[in-house]
Amino acid sequence: MFIRPSEGKITSRFGETRKNNAIKVHKGVDIGSDGSPAIKAAASGVVTRAKVIGGYGNTITIAHTLNGKKYETLYAHLKSISVKVGQSVKQGEQIGIKGTTGNSTGIHLHFEIHKPSYEAGQPNAVNPLYYISEISVSEVQKLLNTVGYKLVIDGIEGPLTIAAIKDFQKNNSLIVDGIVGPKTLAALKKK
Ligand SMILES: [Zn+2]
Repeated sequence: MFIRPSEGKITSRFGETRKNNAIKVHKGVDIGSDGSPAIKAAASGVVTRAKVIGGYGNTITIAHTLNGKKYETLYAHLKSISVKVGQSVKQGEQIGIKGTTGNSTGIHLHFEIHKPSYEAGQPNAVNPLYYISEISVSEVQKLLNTVGYKLVIDGIEGPLTIAAIKDFQKNNSLIVDGIVGPKTLAALKKK
């Protein structure tokens, strides 16, 4: 449903308190600076914000309707934004470049998923790792190849990669959702 919006390691998870502020709860995931700095739309939708939003720095939000349900994704701290409000974007289309604008101490993407929509104070935020793979797509492809699949390591979450993830999940009695979450990752690493 959603794809990973960029390459890079998950450096901070949903719900964790921030290092320099013990009270705040983290309403998204942080994806580090390793790999390509391109930021892609996690799903097809319409751009609803493309501007500086306080500590988020340069920020994009995109509204999606997926399987009849509404979601809004948020991409923060961008170096540059390459879309405009009202623009339709396709899943995987580049929307900006990773940066460190706003309240940020280094280059990373702060990514949020809201159900059904983004509101100030983020009451509708859900854990993005329920929807996107925990590790980068090229790492997923390398792990799948070590267990016998023959994928091209291109970092693109295309149909062949998703089919291989689902096939692995099916053969290992895991939930077949095509997402490399903690259980699928543990099973892949055990092989
Ligand atoms: Zn963050």
